Amino acid sequence: MLTQAPRGTRDVLPTESYKWQFLEAKMRKAAAEAGYREIRTPVFEHTELFLRGVGDTTDIVQKEMYTFKDKGDRSITLKPEGTAGAARAFLESNLYADPLPSKMYYLAAPVFRYEAPQAGRLREHHQFGMECFGAKEATADAELIILAYRLLSGLGVSNLSVNINSIGCPECRPKYNNALRQYLSEHLDELCDDCKNRYERNPLRALDCKQKKCQAVVADAPVLLDYLDERCKKHFEELQACLREMHIPYQVNTKIVRGLDYYTRTVFELITRTKEGNLTVCGGGRYDHLVEEIGGPDLPAVGFGMGIERVLMLLENEGVEIPQERLYDCFVTYMGENRVAAFLLTEKLREQGIRADMDHVGRSLKAQFKYAGKTGAPLTAILGDEEVANGQVKLRDMETREEKTVPSEQAAEAVKAMLEQ
Ligand code: ATP
Ligand code: MG
Repeated sequence: MLTQAPRGTRDVLPTESYKWQFLEAKMRKAAAEAGYREIRTPVFEHTELFLRGVGDTTDIVQKEMYTFKDKGDRSITLKPEGTAGAARAFLESNLYADPLPSKMYYLAAPVFRYEAPQAGRLREHHQFGMECFGAKEATADAELIILAYRLLSGLGVSNLSVNINSIGCPECRPKYNNALRQYLSEHLDELCDDCKNRYERNPLRALDCKQKKCQAVVADAPVLLDYLDERCKKHFEELQACLREMHIPYQVNTKIVRGLDYYTRTVFELITRTKEGNLTVCGGGRYDHLVEEIGGPDLPAVGFGMGIERVLMLLENEGVEIPQERLYDCFVTYMGENRVAAFLLTEKLREQGIRADMDHVGRSLKAQFKYAGKTGAPLTAILGDEEVANGQVKLRDMETREEKTVPSEQAAEAVKAMLEQ
């Protein structure tokens, strides 16, 4: 128990963190290219924010939140998604008074959901998310979809399909909701309990329910796109024109809804096919009423969330090699009593920006060599009694076995020269 992490959590070990850093660097770069800057918000927020911001008919709020009372008897929830926290910070700091849009991203933000753990489904996962507050035009939606697509395909995720849909606005959607409710009411017995329960308040959710029986029912349901008003239609057309012109292979998938009350117009998912079935790596959409819903001005916005563990899983499945920087440039070995001399040399090398290390566990010289070899260090420095007596150090190229003895004050320079060869 003591040495077992809670179910649904995963450690990122020192041997694998380079993969995360690699992804994070790509994500930062992609975000920066489009003028997004990083935001960091707390891991927990007032529960009320998610009840209002995520919506109390969603799976997240109904079943998945980690909610608890703190010692001051306040209800606190660990972030189950990133958008609400970003929107709260945006409002609290009056960022809407600055020129809009306000573009921000969060990187590897921990997200907590009490779900049944399985492949690609954790209780703590991490998201790269992007939010663009204050932009109403479809070009902003297109920018985000293209950014996510380019990022993932650039990383080597193949099989990517961009699924988009429009769920209209509070003016046109009620008409559709009525039509859908009418249709569903004739099939209530065939729906899962969740869809049955939320059919009055949020019938849209049935469209993307994962239960087979619900999928069978909604296969013939009326289609929301047929109910869009002129402005929503135009918005969706402009988005598609942008994607088309940029040669993004997208498809309109009328079953994607993401079903939160505040979502409007564009919703999208980037989906890949895996052995185990379809996997959504990235989901997002337009949430023109979220900011108002949590007490701010009427301000449109659009964003997405991308699961980092899922991206890594896909890269692994596809055998994509993530480049790993070497641990050491030079490993300093020493004989007998020369440990402090080795220490001083190691520190001198580090001062010069060289990745260096030495033995701290009392290995013999032979074992130090063996260990240095295992770390993949291209060079070793050797401090034998003779070298130390002469104020020198011997450098060895681990591949060519070539050796060179230099005065110790020239060691760093010589190491650099040998590394460049
Ligand atoms: P799903 O339909 O798979 O449950 P979702 O609609 O709940 O996904 P979002 O809320 O859109 O997912 O979250 C954005 C992204 O975060 C997802 O596309 C996915 O990559 C990732 N994600 C969501 N839930 C989990 C989880 N439990 N474990 C790992 N990654 C997750
Ligand atoms: Mg989910």
